[in-house]
This record gives sequence, C-alpha cells and structure tokens, in this order.
Amino acid sequence: MHLRTNAPELCRQWFEEIEPVGVAGGVLRLRAHSNIHRDYLQRQCNEPFNDAARTVSQMLITVQFLGPDDQVSAAPSTLTTFDPPASERIDRPSGGVNGRTPTTGRNGPVERAARVAAEQAARSTAEAAHSAVEPRAVGAGLNGTPRPSLPLALNPDYTFEHFVVGPSNRLAHAAAMAVSANPGRAYNPYFVHGSVGLGKTHLLQAVCLKILQTNPTARIYYTSCEGFITQFMEAVQAGEMSAFRHTFRDVDVLVIDDVHFLAKRDRTQEEFFHTFNSLYQAQKQIILSSDAPPEEIPDLEERLVSRFKWGLVSHVGPPCYETRVAILKNKARMRGFELPDDAACHIAARIDSNIRELEGAIVKVQVMASVEKRPIDLEMAISALGPDPGAVSAGRQVQIQTIIDVVTAYFGVKVTDLQSKRRHRSVAIPRQVCMFLCRRYTRYSLEEIGGYFGGRDHTTVMHAVKTIDARMETDQEFARTVRLLDEQVRIPSIT
Ligand code: ADP
Ligand code: MG
Repeated sequence: MHLRTNAPELCRQWFEEIEPVGVAGGVLRLRAHSNIHRDYLQRQCNEPFNDAARTVSQMLITVQFLGPDDQVSAAPSTLTTFDPPASERIDRPSGGVNGRTPTTGRNGPVERAARVAAEQAARSTAEAAHSAVEPRAVGAGLNGTPRPSLPLALNPDYTFEHFVVGPSNRLAHAAAMAVSANPGRAYNPYFVHGSVGLGKTHLLQAVCLKILQTNPTARIYYTSCEGFITQFMEAVQAGEMSAFRHTFRDVDVLVIDDVHFLAKRDRTQEEFFHTFNSLYQAQKQIILSSDAPPEEIPDLEERLVSRFKWGLVSHVGPPCYETRVAILKNKARMRGFELPDDAACHIAARIDSNIRELEGAIVKVQVMASVEKRPIDLEMAISALGPDPGAVSAGRQVQIQTIIDVVTAYFGVKVTDLQSKRRHRSVAIPRQVCMFLCRRYTRYSLEEIGGYFGGRDHTTVMHAVKTIDARMETDQEFARTVRLLDEQVRIPSIT
C-alpha cells in the first residue's frame, strides 16, 4: 500500500506473490518466486522497499530479497518466520494475467512483514536491530550499476504473457514462440527487426524467460550489441581473447539486441562472424534484433548479411488501434490496476506509434490517480494526455477519402450523390457533415472543400459548418451521430 502510493510506477501485480520470510537483526527478508524477479527487485526496488519497510514499521529495517532457492544467511534462532494466514494468500487463476482482479495491496508483503518486525522489535533489544547481519548480495550484477560488458539482466515484465499479439507482430511472435520451444532447431538465427519501441527487446527477453522456465539451467547470454563490442575491445586490450570466446561461444543461447550497432565495426564484425559460426555449428540458438533488415544495415559485411538470413527474418510494425488498446489494458493489469475502456481508447487514439510512449502514458495516469486518490477514468486520461486526439495527432493524417467512406457508409448514400446538385435532405445532410469533418480534420481550404463536393463555393462550406455546429447544440441525437462519425474518421480501424 505504501509503495502503491509512493512509487506507483514501480509496482507490479506479482508483488503480491512475494513471500515475507521473516525478520532478523534488522533485516527483513522477502522471497521472490524466481531469481529473475529477485534480481529485478534488487535492481529497481531496493530503496522504495527499504523506505516502505521503515515507514510502516517505524524501525530501521533493511530489506533483503531472496530467490526461491536462496538460503537465509542469519542464524535460524534469531529469525522470526511466519506464513501469512490462508485468508491473506492470493489465489490466482492459472494462465497468466487475464481474469485476475487487482488486489488492494493493503496487506502487501511489506506491510505483513513490517507488522511482524514491529512486534519482534518490541520484544527484542536494540542490539538485535543493529546487528552486523548485512543483506547478502545474491545472484549476478547486484552491486551498483552493471558494467556494460556483463550480460544484461532480464526484465520479468517482458514475458510472452504480457506480449499482445496483433497483425503488426503476429509472425515475429509466432516465430519467437517456436524458437523458445525448440532452441537451436526451429529457426536459427532468429532475427527480428523494426523501429524503436515496437517490442523487439520484449520479444527477445520473452524467448529467454520462456527457455529458462522450461530449462532453468540453460546457459543464456543476453546482451546489447554495445555489450558485445565493449567486451571484445576489453578482451583485445587485455589480451584475454580466450576468455572472451569462452563467454560467447560456450552458451546454449546467445542473444544480441540491436545488432545494427555492428555497422562500421570491422574487427568486431570479424569476431562476431566467428562467434556466429561456432554457435551455429554447435546448433546453439542465436537471436538477434535490429532496427533494419539485414541487407539494410549499413556497412555490414556480406557474409554476415547472408548468415542473418539463414534462419527466419521477421518484422514488427507499429501496432494498430485495437492492439494498442489491448496493450494498454495488459500493461495496466501487470501494474496491478484496471484501465477503463474509454480511458484506454483515449490513450490509444492519442498515441499511435511508439509503444514505449503508451507505457509512459499508463504511468502518468497511474501516478495521477495515486496523487488525486481516485480511480482512473476518461477525464483523468484526458487531463494527463491532453484533449481531442483528432485535432492533435491523427488530425493531420485524416484523408478526405476516409471522411467520405465513413459518412457515405453511415448514411447509405453514394459519393456521386454528395457531388451532385441534389439538395434533398437525405443528401444535403451527409454532404454538410462531410464538409464539417473536412474542415475540422484536413488542411483543405473552404474553396477546395466546396470544389470537391460538386463545385460549391466557400460560403456554402461555411454555411454547412455552421449548420452542423448549430444542430449539434440543439439535437442530441444528431450530435451523437456526428461524434460517432468523427471518431470513426480519426480511427478508421474501429469502423
Ligand atoms: P524495442 O526493443 O523494439 O525498441 P521494446 O521491446 O523495448 O522495443 O518495447 C518498448 C515497450 O513497449 C516495452 O515496455 C514493451 O513491453 C512494450 N511492448 C512492445 N510491444 C508490445 C506488445 N506487443 N505487447 C505488450 N507490450 C509491448
Ligand atoms: Mg530494444
């Protein structure tokens, strides 16, 4: 609860699964359900958890995160262990995030543990609270920021369960699933490309997480291309090439993110070529991502281009509107709250290219909700992201043809009717609506719009705009119709 209020952007639904192990010597131990979750907590959440534990317990407590198999380092006699009562356990349906209602977090692991800590402290002496038991560093890369040359840590958010599949990424996703089910055999290498923020890193990590889930001892080396380059240069300088080769070749899966950074790196390309061959021959899985298809990576040696195409090259594109809505809802659930449909639709209409920005928007409304202490609604989404998406983002892209398609389909008239001289209401109203929407969403002048609809002059268009505006003021039914068409024009995919 404390965390949800003070660091809402950090909170994840799976925090509810963290088990408090106990408190000893001023150290509160919390057990995560996998080492990847533990590492994430250590990397991202140390301070906020310490802060929460101290605030809730009113004591100087340090939090230590454990993985499922990590041993508690303190003497057992000093340890207060406890299980949450059955009523506090959260029963979640199997099969991922769907169908799960968010929990309140009032009885979150920190709160439960802190209560016990407070009770224990009341009994024990001050000496216990300041004993020399230091939180033990568990796992790799825990102290300070990891050097770029170390393998990158996996993000537990980037699972297949949290990856929303749509037309823009269906193939890339299917191939990634196949690779994770059959590493080294399905597609080797697996190469995914697309612009920034469209899910390449997420897919790569999902493959790693899935492989580790099936085979926890799999040797996976996941790094950025820069990590590979840095390690290579360090190895050359230190004359430690055999250690370098051991690192990159004695693995089951090698994942290099953003491999386009190999451009112009002749010596690194040479080394990577040999790394690739060695792994490939041993039927070890190679996974690569890039911002361009292999043949379009500038200054990439031909032999690497052709190797990158040996397996499967797949593409991720910008997500369509429905996919964006689904991603928003999925991300919200992952963070432990529900995003109402209208708020999700507003955000999805407002942000239409980069998925990373969608996530930024989620965090923004989440923080806003926690500051204002009320549930998220459309109004909040609008004030967090600005009003009328049509006018700002999609507006520039609305085509006159889209307006005509939407309006003629709705009123059941033909475009030739709109362009004719007919003045019957059944034609005049759709024509005026078209003019109104063209004025709103296109850059055409009054004359151009008039010209398009049967050679009418600019005063006719002005009159049309005024007429529609006035009627929307007085006729609610009509106003609803125009708003619906307006929406369909901005977001053609929902028609
Ligand atoms: P890239 O590596 O292509 O630049 P990332 O993989 O870092 O992009 O994705 C950016 C953000 O968008 C991440 O938070 C990721 O979880 C999210 N994201 C991208 N695609 C999807 C998807 N299909 N479903 C859910 N989240 C996605
Ligand atoms: Mg990336």
